[in-house]
Amino acid sequence: MYDVIIIGAGPAGVSASLYTKRANLNTLIIYHDKSGLEKAELIENYYGFENGITGKELYNEGIKQAKRLGTEVLDEEVINIKMEEKGFTVITNKNEYQTKTVIFATGNKKNTPKIKGIKEFEGKGISYCAVCDGFFYRNKNIAVIGSGNYAISETNELINLAKEITILTDGKTAPEIRADNVKIVPKKIREVRGETRVEEVEFEDNTKLPVDGIFVANGIAGSSEFAKKLGILTNKENIVVNENMETNIPGIYACGDCTGGILQVSKAVYEGAKAGLEVIKYVRNKN
Ligand SMILES: Cc1cc2nc3c(=O)[nH]c(=O)nc-3n(C[C@H](O)[C@H](O)[C@H](O)COP(=O)(O)OP(=O)(O)OC[C@H]3O[C@@H](n4cnc5c(N)ncnc54)[C@H](O)[C@@H]3O)c2cc1C
Repeated sequence: MYDVIIIGAGPAGVSASLYTKRANLNTLIIYHDKSGLEKAELIENYYGFENGITGKELYNEGIKQAKRLGTEVLDEEVINIKMEEKGFTVITNKNEYQTKTVIFATGNKKNTPKIKGIKEFEGKGISYCAVCDGFFYRNKNIAVIGSGNYAISETNELINLAKEITILTDGKTAPEIRADNVKIVPKKIREVRGETRVEEVEFEDNTKLPVDGIFVANGIAGSSEFAKKLGILTNKENIVVNENMETNIPGIYACGDCTGGILQVSKAVYEGAKAGLEVIKYVRNKN
């Protein structure tokens, strides 16, 4: 069992690991997909680089620094996290890992697709969490919007509850899934419609699909999706933390862009350090 699993290898996640690893905690960093940093052409407002540094370079150097200190760093996509009696199970597209604590350092990527009707019908047939809301759709016809590992994982949560599930990839290709009540429709979506609740999806080719509900599982899961599954408090999709980077769930911490506020490397580094230091205290108290 790991002492801590850090999800994210940007400035917040790596910074947390520098403290936990050097305090001899069994530390695992899991990352996948881009960091906000990789989009930054040149960073000139972070300490220590006379001529600035490209975001990509800073990101890669951070990962190398964590590895040099002996931290295990894996490129895998986290698709689910479960609370267990003695900690947490972090499930990726490749494996499952047990840990005493989790630090979210997942950045501030927002996954809501820009499809007309999605925002309007949130809570009225649009859901972002299969394990939370799946039960409301037993024996109903539902759709899952998404095309990656996360969409498949959410679909698997719903297979034994729903009557029919249609995976809507919005024009992308999705991995195969074998189940009698699941089909994949790769058409481009125009709009989600209904009177007071979601009733149908209209496609660009003018065809329609009647549905009782839609689960959004677009792209790779971020902090707000995990927060919903675990009951972590959020505010406008940011994870709510106290000054110790603790969430409302003991053993779960968050740092960096996923907690909102100033979206800058310096703030991510500070919060990562603080989360790391607090995890050290938490794990030592438990032992
Ligand atoms: C265009 C642009 C320019 C910027 N310029 C500046 C600048 O000049 N100065 C400055 O200080 N800041 C700048 N920033 C902001 C800076 O990039 C962020 O504040 C910083 O990267 C936040 O760090 P983080 O560790 O919180 O998140 P990120 O760096 O975004 O890292 C998130 C990590 O989470 C991982 N992750 C997310 N979901 C999953 C999942 N499901 N499974 C596995 N891994 C996952 C990602 O792979 C990544 O490793 C800029 C940002 C952008 C977009």
